[in-house]
Amino acid sequence: MTTTTTTTTATTTPTTPTGYVRPATVADLIAARADHPDWAVLCGGTDLMVEAPLRPAPAGVIDVWGLAELRGISELDDGGGAAVRIGAATPWTEVIASALVAARAPILVAAAREIGALQIQARGTIGGNVGTSSPVGDSLPVLLALDAVLELRSPRGARTVPYRDYPISYRKTALAADEVIVAVRLPAPHPEARQHWRKVGTRRAQSISKVMAAAVLRVEAGRFVEARLGLGAVADRPVRAPHAEAALLGAPVGAATADAVAAALAHDVAPITDVRSTAAYRLQTLQHVVRRFVLETA
Ligand SMILES: Cc1cc2nc3c(=O)[nH]c(=O)nc-3n(C[C@H](O)[C@H](O)[C@H](O)COP(=O)(O)OP(=O)(O)OC[C@H]3O[C@@H](n4cnc5c(N)ncnc54)[C@H](O)[C@@H]3O)c2cc1C
Repeated sequence: MTTTTTTTTATTTPTTPTGYVRPATVADLIAARADHPDWAVLCGGTDLMVEAPLRPAPAGVIDVWGLAELRGISELDDGGGAAVRIGAATPWTEVIASALVAARAPILVAAAREIGALQIQARGTIGGNVGTSSPVGDSLPVLLALDAVLELRSPRGARTVPYRDYPISYRKTALAADEVIVAVRLPAPHPEARQHWRKVGTRRAQSISKVMAAAVLRVEAGRFVEARLGLGAVADRPVRAPHAEAALLGAPVGAATADAVAAALAHDVAPITDVRSTAAYRLQTLQHVVRRFVLETA
């Protein structure tokens, strides 16, 4: 049952939302989305509330925090082996504590541990990180490297979208105005694949990223046969690295390949100079980080 606590008619431009609904089920959530496509979806609020003073208030809020159907971590047979399914409203503390995620996607646990401090990890969610789609969202390069898939729902039905097709430009995504993120699926990794993650910030903790890189790499008979690189803070959105991945596939392990991959990265990213870093530092640091990933995979 949908629980609406407030709905009023404003006579002037509101400075706070005037409508509020807290759906109890996903079906209620989709119905609320159909009724109020212009209302904001609120989960942990650790992005939305920070940005609230900078934007006009939405007409109302659809609050999905605590919606049980959107929360939790499970295994799902998606036809390609057992995937890990993480509900959109699952907070980072649950991701960090999950033995299943630790076994299948240790780089997601590593990234989650670096999101804010404990208070933010207790309240911030994977769906919120995906929803904001910041170029510095820490989980997003990891979702690219793991080839994650998003489960989306709207009044028009359900669909799955490969995460690589989701970020379109700066904070613009493939999410339609009336859609919600229901879950993130992580396909079963190859047992021989190696996962890598590195966040570079001003300090070791509670830092906004200057550069992030995640990788899933696999070697057979001395050559790279699988290579996915997910990069953050080096373009207007989280990006894969097609040139660097091409330099890896079929190449032998060793320093020459690591150098070629580092050089190829320059064609994959468009870092900017801002208050946190310079474009040159970002590119050089990224090349250093990815070079190490390659050398550590044998
Ligand atoms: C002090 C502080 C430190 C932080 N540090 C980091 C950090 O180190 N790394 C990092 O990546 N982030 C950081 N963040 C940002 C934030 O904590 C994360 O992005 C978090 O994962 C957001 O989750 P949330 O549930 O709070 O999102 P919310 O604020 O509730 O929502 C964020 C956006 O996603 C949308 N949304 C949420 N759920 C859904 C859904 N199910 N379907 C559709 N849209 C949805 C909302 O409408 C909104 O646009 C920090 C924030 C703060 C305040």
